[in-house]
Amino acid sequence: MYKLDITHAPDSGGHFGRFGGRFAAETLMQPLKEIETAFFEAWQDEAFQAERLDLLKNYVGRATPLYHAKQLTAASGGAQIYLKREDLTHTGAHKINNTIGQGLLARRMGKKRVIAETGAGQHGVATATVAALFGMHCDIYMGREDMARQMPNVLRMRLLGANVIPVDSGTATLKDAVNEALRNWVASCEDTFYIFGTAAGPHPYPLLVRQFHTVIGQEARAQILKQAGRLPDVAVACVGGGSNAMGLLHPFRDDESVRLVAVEAAGLGLDSGKHAASLAAGKAGILHGNLTFLLEDDEGQVQGTHSISAGLDYPGVGPELAYMLEQGRLELDAATDDEALEALQLLTRSEGIIPALESSHAIAAGVRIAKTMSADQIVLINLSGRGDKDMNTVFKHLGWMEDGS
Ligand SMILES: *Cc1c(COP(=O)(O)O)cnc(C)c1O
Repeated sequence: MYKLDITHAPDSGGHFGRFGGRFAAETLMQPLKEIETAFFEAWQDEAFQAERLDLLKNYVGRATPLYHAKQLTAASGGAQIYLKREDLTHTGAHKINNTIGQGLLARRMGKKRVIAETGAGQHGVATATVAALFGMHCDIYMGREDMARQMPNVLRMRLLGANVIPVDSGTATLKDAVNEALRNWVASCEDTFYIFGTAAGPHPYPLLVRQFHTVIGQEARAQILKQAGRLPDVAVACVGGGSNAMGLLHPFRDDESVRLVAVEAAGLGLDSGKHAASLAAGKAGILHGNLTFLLEDDEGQVQGTHSISAGLDYPGVGPELAYMLEQGRLELDAATDDEALEALQLLTRSEGIIPALESSHAIAAGVRIAKTMSADQIVLINLSGRGDKDMNTVFKHLGWMEDGS
């Protein structure tokens, strides 16, 4: 089931077409190249892969199920809907696939300390988890604003032994946390590995993160062939930076009959200016070390973004998704805050599965697409994470009281 060859690799400078690359401080060029070399060596190393696959199986809980959601299908009326259950992984979202991979790489390179950025806290928790597992010192950079919004995850990280370092610069959210983590890394790269959280950043991170997540799509492809006897007609994933989307979609890229759909956060609506749809509404520019589509104002300043889901609230997007869009291999879709909330309730009530608000964007778009198709067709949706972390946000929007009344 696990294929270990690297297809659709970027060029040696990390370019996917005109996107990607390695725009970083002079002092980071060497550490980035060392990670690239170590990654290619490790990827070919049977012992490394055996340990990684063993941890994915026995620690993360892979393979995750592919679930034929018959009630959701009936409620939608259209194509058969299948859910890839990343919500059932250890720590409750796909992010652990990546942190296991990068954590093993850090240990292989002899690094004693790992750092990471986090927005909603999910990547911070997944990083703190592998740091505990591998006995490494762990510092997580997090915007002070996000810390206030995501206190349960701050507490989880601290319990796991990580230091959560508040970031006050800019809007005190995710993009500022990335800046601060990069700044710290410049001064500490000798003994420190930066575990980057999504398929963005300077080369080789977009490639690394994609490769560590392709297990999602590889499993799903084999599972749907077994369960339904055919490939899906459409594969759908939500997009923050693009890691769960690349993980699901990459293994279907050469299957021309499969439509690949990326769902962005439309927030209060694409016309409102309050959204996080960098592919739909962004311009090409450089953010966090790579050339990609990003949301910026007329003066070229990175724009504030809005989404009900903190995990999609990022002004950029992975360079490979920008490339696939320009190549015509990716279809764009978007879901608003309200549509995501509605999809969360629809899946919960019809199947007894509470999805993360991020994943709910994919559900909303997937159901909308399924409605336009016939019952003998298949829509595959990546259920990237579970919704426990979002209960406070959901209750507030539904107008329920904190005491449950
Ligand atoms: C972080 C997160 C996302 C968005 O990140 P990507 O890198 O775009 O996948 C989506 N879903 C969940 C559950 C997340 O935690």
